[in-house]
Amino acid sequence: MKDQNCIFCKIANGEIPAATLYEDEDFRVILDLGPASKGHALILPKEHAANLYELPDALAGKAMILAKKIASKLSVALKCDGFNIVQNNGEAAGQTVFHFHIHLIPRYKGDTVNVTWQPGILTEEDKKEILEIFR
Ligand code: 5GP
Ligand code: ZN
Repeated sequence: MKDQNCIFCKIANGEIPAATLYEDEDFRVILDLGPASKGHALILPKEHAANLYELPDALAGKAMILAKKIASKLSVALKCDGFNIVQNNGEAAGQTVFHFHIHLIPRYKGDTVNVTWQPGILTEEDKKEILEIFR
């Protein structure tokens, strides 16, 4: 299903042109217009899902397999030194386009890309609370 107001629906379904690296019946993989590094690509499902929670399981599985395939190919071709696979859910997590997508970000030694965080401390209280969720 498409969302009439969603730019990634339009791109994924070919209504708005984008630099396409790969396409099949479920996905389009494009170059990001504001790349974090050379080769930064986005995996877009053709079906609208605002985020990972809304994405059907079958597409979630296929998306990760596709991430592996495209990142492996780019890694060899671009001779990058590493790869970040990033997927943001919600504004607080940095999501700006509310159509599920996976970022494939090639990393080069000495680049200035920042996907790091300050490590905190796992408190006993937090550990107990979170483990309880899965009991
Ligand atoms: P988010 O912040 O939602 O995880 O990532 C959205 C990404 O989409 C950003 O990296 C941004 O540069 C990219 N982007 C936004 N609009 C367009 C567009 O119209 N075309 C392409 N190719 N990328 C876009
Ligand atoms: Zn959409």
